[in-house]
Formats: sequence, structure tokens, C-alpha cells
Amino acid sequence: MTKQSRDAIAELAGVAENPDEYIAQWKRDKNRKVVGLMPMNFPAEIAHAAGALPVVIQQKRTPITIGNNRLTEFHCGYTRSVADQAAKKELGLYDGFMLADHCIQLLGASDIIRDESPEVPMYFGQLISSMGDPWSREQILKKMMSFVREIENFTGRMIHESDLQNSIQLFNENRRLLRQIFDARRAGDVTFKPSELQAFVKSSMVMDKQEHSALLRQVLETAAARPSGAGLIKLHISGHFCHAPKTELLELIEDCGAIIVDDDLFHGTRYISTDIGESKAPIEALADWYLDRNVAAPCPTRVQHDVDWDRYLLNLVAESGAEGLVVLMAKFCEPHMLYYPELRKALNARGIPHVLIETEHEGIPVETIRTRIEAMLERIRRKEPSAA
Ligand code: SF4
Repeated sequence: MTKQSRDAIAELAGVAENPDEYIAQWKRDKNRKVVGLMPMNFPAEIAHAAGALPVVIQQKRTPITIGNNRLTEFHCGYTRSVADQAAKKELGLYDGFMLADHCIQLLGASDIIRDESPEVPMYFGQLISSMGDPWSREQILKKMMSFVREIENFTGRMIHESDLQNSIQLFNENRRLLRQIFDARRAGDVTFKPSELQAFVKSSMVMDKQEHSALLRQVLETAAARPSGAGLIKLHISGHFCHAPKTELLELIEDCGAIIVDDDLFHGTRYISTDIGESKAPIEALADWYLDRNVAAPCPTRVQHDVDWDRYLLNLVAESGAEGLVVLMAKFCEPHMLYYPELRKALNARGIPHVLIETEHEGIPVETIRTRIEAMLERIRRKEPSAA
């Protein structure tokens, strides 16, 4: 790998590690507004089209202190971290907040932000979660139009069709570049560390897309193809919505004698799964993107009777040749908890070895996880299917 590639990776990793520094610099340089987006479905293209910087608010690694008094301890780590950031006045770089998802825990965190900073605009515009009803698309179209109006009010700038088309193209290009890297990993052509892959996606959730794409091109141009580790067991990592799993957890999994060849994490392939049609009217294209995304990467926070997360996962495992699957579940993530029994049934029926690891904001029980991963890898070596 050349110095140019290494420098680009370091820059992306720096933004992923400290988004606030990037956001503050962007505001100083551009003197424009920054909008904090709650994961996972707000169409950031609309904010970009109005000249704002859309940033998916990230979980911080710092201990949750005051935030623990604002939300109950059975909220997921992400929402407690966001509440903590709000209570500590650490979200001051954001000029407004937008939310498109209906998760009750996200609503709780958004309420805390609103309570802590009542003067900062907060827009609750929830996209319908029932995807397959006759009225779903119409509802989604209306919501996309309301997002445009809200962002126009927020930025004080009209969004023209050409602005949206331009933003859609830039975002699609960024997704394509990221997919190139993830496809290469799946094919075993290039091996990036899990922490690097996570940094590529996380920084994309923060940075200006043109700037981010320029760095990705440097990574791609000069990254030398390296065969993925022979003798290592191929694993798929699944789940973990809204926030990034700790990188040391991903590295621990690989240290046990495995290589992660694919994932469906939000800070992974889920975020980049679906492009927006460039030949349609932008609002129509955004509505279709929201619908298409749940087919390309089904999400247990949505309801669609002809789409299954388990069937999708089984296909991914077959395509990547993964020999086992690690389900990473954020503790108290209700949509994931409710869906998991179905998933486990499907994996058991196919004899796919898997293990469920619950993650917490507060830390990683390293030795327990190591033992469970090593036990699964041993079962794979012995070709014994597992019931996690
Ligand atoms: S979907 Fe899960 S991880 Fe995301 S906010 Fe809701 S409970 Fe938390």
C-alpha cells in the first residue's frame, strides 16, 4: 500500500474517531448549517441539496454519566449516549436535528435533545414503516416532500430539482466507491482491517461527500490487492443497528482465527446498499429508494410481508462463502430482539453455525466473547452445526 493510500485511510479514520473536529472545521470554512440526523433512514441528500452538512449523529465512547438520569437503563447504548451528549451540551455544533425513524427509543433520545436545547429546531417526520400496503408509496412521497419543505425552512434556501439531482449523483457515487471496497473484501481481493472498513463508512456519515469520495478514490487507486487469509474461517457479521460496534470487538473476532468477509451492519453494507434512481423525478426517486432499500437490505424495524431478513442473510452467506455468522445485538434493541428468534430458526434449519453476542456501551467482556467465538470456530472446523 502506498503512502497516498495510507494517508487517505488515516484521514478517514481521524474523522471517524473525532467527527466533531471535522464538523467544526467545516462550519468555519463554509459558514453554513449542519443538521444532525438520527439513524437510519433520513434521506441526507435533501439536506445536502440545500447546502447544509448532514451528519448521522454517532455514539461516543465516553462513559455515559448525566445521560443515565435522562433515559432508563433499558434504552439501547446508542440512545443513552445521545441523551448523554445532549445533557452534557456536546451537540452544540448542530444547528438542527431531523428524525425519520419510528423506534421508540430514538424518540426518547430525540425528546432529550429537544428538552436540553429547546431553541434548536428538531423535526419529527416519521417515514411509514409498513412498506407493502397500497398506500405506502403515497405516504412516503408526502413525507419526502415534507422533508424538502422542512429543510428549506431550516436553511432558508429553496431546493430546486437540479440541486436534488446533483446531490443524488454525489451520494450514489460515494456509495458505489464504498461498495467497490466491500465487494473486494467479499471476493477476497483486498484485505482491509474491520476497523478501517468501519472508518470508511462512519466518516461517510459525517463528511462532505465530494471530499469523502476523493479520499476513497485515493484508497482504491493505490491499495494493493492482497489475498485474504488462507486457513482463516470466513464469517459474516450481522445486525447492530444505528451505531457502530466497537472496533476492538471486530478485531477480537478476527484474532480468534477468523476473517470477516461480509456484513449487514448499519456501519457497513446496510448503509451503502441502495442507490437512488438518477433518471426519475428526484422526489419519486427518493421514495423508491426508501422502498427499494428494504428489499436490498431488509430491516427488522420495517414491516414487509414479502421480504425476509433471514432469507436475505442466508443468500448473503451463500454468496460470500461465509462458514459461520456472528449476530451482534445492541443490548435492549427491541426490533432486533423481536426478530432474532426467527433468524435463529432459519440459521439452524440450514445448519449454519452462529453465535449471538450482545453488545453494551459500557464495555466488552473480552474473555467471555473470545471463548464463545473460539467455540463456534471449533464447531466449524469439526463441521458441527450449532444452536447458539
Ligand atoms: S433500532 Fe435498536 S439500536 Fe436503533 S435506536 Fe432503536 S433500539 Fe436503539
